[in-house]
Amino acid sequence: MTTAIVRATLDDAPARIAEALALVNYRPRKEAIFIKPNVPDYGPPQQGLYTDPRVVEGLLQAFAGRPIVIGEGGIVGCDTMAAFQRTGYTELARRYGAELVDLNKVERMEVAWEFGTLRLPTLLRTHEYINVAKMKTHVQTGVTLGLKNQKGLLLPGDKRSFHRRNLNACIRALGQVARPALTVIDGIIALEGNGPWRYGTPKPMSLLVVGTDLIEVDNVCLRIMGFPPAHAPHIPPRSTVEVVGLPIEEVARPFAFDYQGFFRYKNVYEHITDSCSGCNWTLYHTVKLIKASRWRRLKFAYRGIWRRLDIVMGHAAELEGLPPGHGKVVCVGDCAREYAARYGLPLARGCPPQAEDVVKLL
Ligand code: SF4
Repeated sequence: MTTAIVRATLDDAPARIAEALALVNYRPRKEAIFIKPNVPDYGPPQQGLYTDPRVVEGLLQAFAGRPIVIGEGGIVGCDTMAAFQRTGYTELARRYGAELVDLNKVERMEVAWEFGTLRLPTLLRTHEYINVAKMKTHVQTGVTLGLKNQKGLLLPGDKRSFHRRNLNACIRALGQVARPALTVIDGIIALEGNGPWRYGTPKPMSLLVVGTDLIEVDNVCLRIMGFPPAHAPHIPPRSTVEVVGLPIEEVARPFAFDYQGFFRYKNVYEHITDSCSGCNWTLYHTVKLIKASRWRRLKFAYRGIWRRLDIVMGHAAELEGLPPGHGKVVCVGDCAREYAARYGLPLARGCPPQAEDVVKLL
C-alpha cells in the first residue's frame, strides 16, 4: 500500500486532492460515492475543528457526474443537518448536486464484529466509501484521524457502547468491518493541544494525507504529528509505511498534547474516565453558561477556585474510592450513576445531561 502526502492550502485544496489521487493511482470501483467527513458539530471556520468543505469539494470535482452522498452522524445529541448548514456543507452540496444525509436516519445493515453485531449504514455496501477525516489531537484516544472518524458511522446507542466497553479496542475492531476504499486526512489547518474540541489550538500544517489503506494513512499521520504508537492505542502500529509525494521527515512537526481539562481553574479537577464526547460537550456548554452570568461566575469562583471541586464523568471504574484530596464531588451523566449512588454524590442525569443541570450542581 502507498500513502500520498501533498502540500495544500484552502485555496488550492481541490487541485491538491486531484494530485494526491493521481499519486496513489486511485479510481473508484463503484459508481456511487459515499463521503464521510468529520463534522461532529459546528464551530468557527478554519480553526481545525472539522473537515474543511474545500477538501470535500476536491472529491466532488474529481468524481463529478457520479451520484454522491455526504453523510455524518455527529456527536451524541448534535443536530447533524444544523452542523452541515453552519459549516458550509449545505451550500457545497447544493452547488455540486450532492445529497446530504444525517447518518442517524439512514437505512442500516447488521454486521458481525468482534463484540457481536453492529448496525452500520447500508451506504457502506451500496456506495464507494471515502473517509475524509481531520488531523486532530483527542483527549481520550490520543489523536482522531481516519479510524476514529468512523465512529460517526454509528447510531448513538452503539457510540455509547464503545465507551462502556473499551474505546480503543472498539475503534480498532470497527476498522475491521468498516473499510473505506480511500482515506483522506485534512491536515491543512490541524488541531493540537486539548483537541478535539474548541479548547484545542489550531495548527496550520498545510497538508493532505491520502491513501487506500486506512491503517497506513493513520500511521503516517501519527508520525507526522510526532507521536509514538503508544499515544494512540486504537491505531494498529505499522513498523514500515510507504509514502509518495513529500517525505514524512520533511513535513513532520510535533503536536502538543497538554490536556488541562475543560475548566482550567486552579482547584477544579476533572475525572473524565471513559466518558464520551457527549458529556465532554456538555461540560463545554456548562462553561459557557457559567461565563454568561455574573452570579454563576461568582458562585463558581467560590466553589471551584477558592475551594475545590471534583467532576466525575464516565463509569469511573478506574477511580478507587473518592478522588484523592477531593473537594465537593459532582457526577455528570448516566454512566456515572452507579458511582454517584455508591458514594451518595449529586448527579446530573442524562445521556448526555443538560448543561443547565450541571450548573445547578456546581
Ligand atoms: S452519560 Fe455521558 S459519557 Fe455516558 S454515554 Fe452518555 S454522553 Fe457518553
